[in-house]
Amino acid sequence: MKRSDFLKLLTASTASLFIPQLSGEEVDPFSPPKVIQYETNRAFTTAGPGFGRRLSITFDDGPNPSTTNMVLNELKKRDIKATFFLIGKNVDAFPDSVKKIRDEGHELANHSYTHPALKNMPEEKVRSEIARCQESIEKASGIKPVWFRPPYGSFSQKQQHITSDFQLSVALWSLDPFDWKRPGSSVVAQRVLTQSNPGSVILLHDIHKQTAEAVPAILDGLLERDYTFATMSEFLGDPLLPL
Ligand SMILES: [Zn+2]
Repeated sequence: MKRSDFLKLLTASTASLFIPQLSGEEVDPFSPPKVIQYETNRAFTTAGPGFGRRLSITFDDGPNPSTTNMVLNELKKRDIKATFFLIGKNVDAFPDSVKKIRDEGHELANHSYTHPALKNMPEEKVRSEIARCQESIEKASGIKPVWFRPPYGSFSQKQQHITSDFQLSVALWSLDPFDWKRPGSSVVAQRVLTQSNPGSVILLHDIHKQTAEAVPAILDGLLERDYTFATMSEFLGDPLLPL
């Protein structure tokens, strides 16, 4: 389902909540108010389906205009869509970059507001990190993300109810070339190309110049290997499931 269709459905279902009921009278049994509830996936997602030759490229920690633009240009040249897990404070600093990512057809996702390790953090602080990032992205782009990636993967199943409250599903990854350690762009590209499999969710960081410089070789190498590309929601479907 397209997100726009999904939102229409959600709006329609919410509207039905406001059908006035006659006080003291029974509700007509032939037209009971219909309330559709939604739940997010319970499992943390690490990879997509392994059939076919599809995979998903994700970029974390941006936006950072100069390096993010380099990445966007390479994606655009090849008509490849990716998912950007954005840090809220960077969204507030560079809202035009966020609009550009959106306008070029990529998926926007939540990566917290200040990028802390969340696992042992008090619940109210975790909520604030997620809420502030969600608000920043929505303010900059009009898009309400449906995926959340915890910084450093630091998040526990016990905290999953928090992301559910925000109608976010937790997305981790299956392929990490450790580009943030800056081993050199050719090493980053080689690691991605040798470790990719159908279903891979590839973790990269568009804030590093080396990563941006590795992107052309990564994309061309994956295309040569007959991979096709999907955003997280294209790959895994809308994570909001009717109960
Ligand atoms: Zn990160």
